[in-house]
Amino acid sequence: MAGPVASTPGARCARHPDVAAVALCARCGGFLCGACTEVRGETAYCEPCLQWRIRNTRPSRAAAVLLVANLVALGLLLRLLPPVASLLAGGAGALLAVRESRRITRGGGAPRSRLLARVLLALSALNLLAVVLWLALGAYLWFRVR
Ligand SMILES: [Zn+2]
Ligand SMILES: [Zn+2]
Repeated sequence: MAGPVASTPGARCARHPDVAAVALCARCGGFLCGACTEVRGETAYCEPCLQWRIRNTRPSRAAAVLLVANLVALGLLLRLLPPVASLLAGGAGALLAVRESRRITRGGGAPRSRLLARVLLALSALNLLAVVLWLALGAYLWFRVR
């Protein structure tokens, strides 16, 4: 982050006008002095942007709920009932998992946060696959009975 600041001689911290800036916030581009700079990994942020990043890189509660819903739906499959739960949980889970991993990647999230989105996607795919298999089996039996 030294490059952009070096090219702006005399840059001052946005919050402390009498202190020279030492970094630029990676998100909002504001000038930061040493006291205002929050470093995560190799990247400098201002305090509000760091909070934004933390919020945006944590797995959401909805993802955790859908993860459980997908597990329950997989369990229900064993009862050989029409896989309505699988269809709902799998569909919603797949959509959310794609959105989550995009959001977390954009926020520069840790691999651990991305793992939850991946597990959710895998479970959702399993549920949707089960729905397809169930429909295929149903169609096959239906045609055979006729
Ligand atoms: Zn910022
Ligand atoms: Zn400052």
